[in-house]
Amino acid sequence: MSSTHHDVIVIGGGQAGLAIAYYLRRAGLSFVILDAGEGPGGAWVHTWSSLHLFSPAAFSSLPGWPMPVGDTGAFPTRDEVIAYLTRYEQRYGFAIERPCIVEAVEPAPAGLQVRLTSGRRVTGRTVVSATGTWSAPLIPAYPEQGLFRGTQLHSAFYRNSEPFRGQRVLVIGGGNSGAQIFAELSLVAIATWVTIQDPTFLPDDVDGRVLFERASARVRGEIGAAGFGDIVMVPPVKEARDRGILQTVRPFERFTPDGVIWPDGATAPVDAVIWCTGFRPATAHLQPLGCVGPEGRVDVVDQRAVTQPRLWLAGYGDWTGAASATLIGAGRTARELVPRIIDALAAEDRAGTV
Ligand code: FAD
Repeated sequence: MSSTHHDVIVIGGGQAGLAIAYYLRRAGLSFVILDAGEGPGGAWVHTWSSLHLFSPAAFSSLPGWPMPVGDTGAFPTRDEVIAYLTRYEQRYGFAIERPCIVEAVEPAPAGLQVRLTSGRRVTGRTVVSATGTWSAPLIPAYPEQGLFRGTQLHSAFYRNSEPFRGQRVLVIGGGNSGAQIFAELSLVAIATWVTIQDPTFLPDDVDGRVLFERASARVRGEIGAAGFGDIVMVPPVKEARDRGILQTVRPFERFTPDGVIWPDGATAPVDAVIWCTGFRPATAHLQPLGCVGPEGRVDVVDQRAVTQPRLWLAGYGDWTGAASATLIGAGRTARELVPRIIDALAAEDRAGTV
């Protein structure tokens, strides 16, 4: 067992983990970040090359140090976000261990024990899980999917349109990823955009700031569930609309070896399917604690696991804090979460249980 016993072990060194670290450092708690990545940047390292944020730099910042406005325009590129996260963690000198894959979190005498795939064990009084969703891509089951001999790729692994040049491609999913990947592919491939229903496009002058405000209002109970998945009209999507190709069709009935069969019985040859169908929380490492539900979620109250009070969660979605899966929301989640950890540790100290 490691000789170090931290106040807090943060699992995940993406934006959510870094924002937590910022407030832990300010509070003077001892902590370490264990991150599976080869380098900084979290999920941004894996996003497609042309990705731009849908919110300006000023509304995409972590606590303490605003994201610099880059050279490429109002909406930062994914490269600018990676550069920002890299400089952010260097600026504050966080203790981050990489690459470091956490296999399991288990109960330990005075806290929790984190077991790494390397076999090493690290213990802490508390754990914050901030592992995001990228490593748990979701692909829905379609009839005869196993028969299909073409390419199937989740958006998590999509880099650019080049491998699909000249191909017949289905882009499946009605969110922002689907819209952006379809827009890009439509320039070089015969692309069809498949969605369960007509997507909702936001007005051209609405960007990520409004989505954040909506998510906050939703958490406060002021509006219903619709809104956060609506499509932001970033430049490539606007351009596709201006070309008149931003159309969707309803899902096909089933796969064939060479394509799909549409609801009217027509068969269509297909070379590739890109699944833009979202993600689940990457929480397999929490299974030994017995708190993970069937879709990867953990029951939380104020970001604290209901059945495992030493475990806290951040960054997965609105259920771990308003817009906590966005850059700006990660900071607010952390600002709320760290004082709660401090209170919990102080209460434990007062009770003399450690
Ligand atoms: P991640 O960035 O995924 O970081 C989690 C870290 O945990 C990773 O480094 C990973 O290696 C590590 N990890 C995972 N499992 C383990 C393990 N078992 N052990 C150790 N480490 C582990 N947000 C915005 O604010 N504005 C936008 O415009 C925007 N656009 C987006 C566009 C796309 C296509 C996508 C997919 C997301 C977008 N987001 C946007 C959302 C959001 O900012 C990201 O999803 C964000 O990366 C989530 O941060 P995170 O820190 O929670 O998770």
